[in-house]
Amino acid sequence: MSKSVDISGRKFGRLQVLKRAGEKNTHALWEVRCECGKVLIVPYSNLVSGNTTQCKRCYGDTLKVISEEIVKKMLSARADGMTYREIALEFGYPVSTTFNTIKREINSKSKT
Ligand SMILES: [Zn+2]
Repeated sequence: MSKSVDISGRKFGRLQVLKRAGEKNTHALWEVRCECGKVLIVPYSNLVSGNTTQCKRCYGDTLKVISEEIVKKMLSARADGMTYREIALEFGYPVSTTFNTIKREINSKSKT
């Protein structure tokens, strides 16, 4: 078993880490539970990098609905000098995949 950091009990976005779930190609895998209740296995690196912050179903919902309220919060966070990446993490968005969605939302709201 490769050396790895114990992240059990920690939270990444909507995912609560439950327990170690072995490894794959020397990458540590962790069993996590999404806020919606779905349990999934995620590689350690995806969790700590912010690439995986929720299950696929929630991710789909996130893309469909970025509420007015969240966009408002994002706008003020942006005004506070937070980067889009920080904003994405703050609101539980996977940084790599919804970055442009968030940016687009913010830009469209800030123009009006
Ligand atoms: Zn979920």
